[in-house]
Amino acid sequence: MLMPLLPGYACSEYLMRPESVIRPEIRALSAYHVADAKGFIKLDAMENPWPLPDAVAMEIAEACAHVQVNRYPDSEASELAARIRQVMSIPQHAGLLLGNGSDELIQMLAMACAKPGAAILGVEPSFVMYRMISVFCNMRYVGVPLEEDFSLNEVSMLETMEKEQPSLVFIAFPNNPTGNLFEPGLLKRIIAAAPGLVVIDEAYYPFAGTTAMDWLDEFDNLLVMRTVSKLGLAGLRLGYLTGPVAVISEINKVRLPYNINALTQVAGQIALAHHAVFDAQAREICSMRESMFSDLASMEELEAYPSQANFILIRHEHASDIFDGLKKRGVLVKNLDGAHPMLTGCLRITVGQQNENLILIRHLKELIHL
Ligand SMILES: *Cc1c(COP(=O)(O)O)cnc(C)c1O
Repeated sequence: MLMPLLPGYACSEYLMRPESVIRPEIRALSAYHVADAKGFIKLDAMENPWPLPDAVAMEIAEACAHVQVNRYPDSEASELAARIRQVMSIPQHAGLLLGNGSDELIQMLAMACAKPGAAILGVEPSFVMYRMISVFCNMRYVGVPLEEDFSLNEVSMLETMEKEQPSLVFIAFPNNPTGNLFEPGLLKRIIAAAPGLVVIDEAYYPFAGTTAMDWLDEFDNLLVMRTVSKLGLAGLRLGYLTGPVAVISEINKVRLPYNINALTQVAGQIALAHHAVFDAQAREICSMRESMFSDLASMEELEAYPSQANFILIRHEHASDIFDGLKKRGVLVKNLDGAHPMLTGCLRITVGQQNENLILIRHLKELIHL
């Protein structure tokens, strides 16, 4: 709003004050911080450590050269959607919704469900975007603490769902940042008891060796969400949500018309045609994860948590010092010390290329004694 300048008053007095329009809960947030990783061995963000094979990159470059970027993209991203259905074995009768990363799908789910007073339930500690997006969309967030070994507490999950009646329950399977899978039978009892939708977030599906996709037939309130980010295509920003058509078609109504850009549609389609490349890389990452875990587990000074994802959580009383020491030596991991009471002293290490993992282990062995 423009205000007239009165004589004797400085201009700045009439600057628009953000607090007059921005919601207080938004002003209380800090923007999502992404560390500058230039020049570092990057083990902080659960990325696939290898670039695309040259042949695939060239095929994508060739196809992208022919994309008409002066035109809007296919709003339904039909070819890409068909490819995902085929490659990811999505049940034929299930609905499918694509998002600009699975983060956007979480946001669409929240926007569609944000009745006044409606709640999102998550476990703690887990993926922070569930809580953040609850705030963005003016929903209540209810966090149910995990057990000390990061397993689900069935009684408190069932009691909290009964009391809070969440519209949405988000469960990451495997969980981030803890890396563990929850017990499938228990998950099914939670889905059966939930008063609303349950989203099983399978961001780490390529490394997990299990899926809730097979349960879609059994439940009318189950949605399975995945992303290609951890598989090796984080830069494309592409996630997908599958579940009952009746639910997916409602969520689709809050999707912005061209959420999957033309270049992502083409590149994603071609990359996924070569999914065998990524499947092989995922297998190699899993085997490096196992050797990294045994190296970490052999260090008595720290605790390492078994993982079914492409990262490993460790705990050490001087975690922040170790984080700084690694950074000084050119290795970037994720410092979770202070992020949540149950993560005190925790660092999250993404599995990288074998030589990177060995460098990390070498530095860690020195730093844990400081
Ligand atoms: C990384 C991650 C996501 C986000 O994936 P994008 O598709 O890159 O937005 C979602 N859920 C969990 C649990 C994750 O760890």
